[in-house]
Amino acid sequence: MIVTTAQLFKVAYGKFAIGAYNINNAEQTMGLFKGCIASKAPFIIQISKGARSYTDKKMLEAIIRSAGEIFPEAIYAVHLDHGDEKTCYDCIESGFYSSVMIDASHDDFKTNVAITRRVVDKAHAKGLSVEAELGMLGGVEEDIQVEEGNACLTNPEEVEEFVKESGCDSLAAAIGTSHGAYKFKGQQSLHFNVIEAIQKKLPGFPIVMHGSSSVPKDEVARINKAGGTLDPSACGVNEEEYLPAAKLGVTKVNVDTDGRLVWTRVHREYFRDHPGEFDFRPPGKIFIEEYAKFIAHKNEKLGSAGQLEAVRDSVSK
Ligand SMILES: [Zn+2]
Repeated sequence: MIVTTAQLFKVAYGKFAIGAYNINNAEQTMGLFKGCIASKAPFIIQISKGARSYTDKKMLEAIIRSAGEIFPEAIYAVHLDHGDEKTCYDCIESGFYSSVMIDASHDDFKTNVAITRRVVDKAHAKGLSVEAELGMLGGVEEDIQVEEGNACLTNPEEVEEFVKESGCDSLAAAIGTSHGAYKFKGQQSLHFNVIEAIQKKLPGFPIVMHGSSSVPKDEVARINKAGGTLDPSACGVNEEEYLPAAKLGVTKVNVDTDGRLVWTRVHREYFRDHPGEFDFRPPGKIFIEEYAKFIAHKNEKLGSAGQLEAVRDSVSK
């Protein structure tokens, strides 16, 4: 059942975080639904601009609709990840999405507010909520690349004015994470002081954490052992920090890179061990199961595991 993102946030805020997972194809979608059902977790399906053009936006919508029929007990929202204005309007008009993210964080404060405000007005008229971004994450997100030097943490002094002026419903804040597999050099943790300061300024307002993959060392090692050349020093967010962040108002946690690592590990190992194989279904089947396990594990760490019935009760009221 597709619900609004706001309905999920209402149940989760201050208690746990909802996992927001990007999908690109049928195998990933099957694994996502299986993992969320197994862990009894509500979730957010994220569709990026790149995913919409990978096959076709209609294909993804059809895959999600079918998954909803295969897993009727699932509860989830459908969200546009890192939209520009045009893509936001397309998703708002489609009638399929629960919420959109407008990312105008590369513009100055005033322009960011103005663009976000335009999207909010159109979205709210159709019952969708809007995630906006203030501050800038480092790293690579599809066609957006931010050099580490240009990345900047969200300034808590700006958040109140930004939310008030733009009318957005949740805020993607730069709190120490970055996009992609090369996150922290050495051991670095989230900037809890920034999260806390934002929550003080915006009590009850959902904060969104992007770039929240943990980039497990053993996953990178297995990929490299099977022929990959990923940087073994790559390091992400400590999963034990998800819940403390959730208690401070981080209500949505975006995870994409870790799922890509699962795909790469499964396929590299499979074809290394079966060099004569050319049927893509056997590794595809393994991937679906491994991805489901990975999703269930993340949901445990986010605290969303076991919350499905609480959300069902809340939305049926
Ligand atoms: Zn992001």
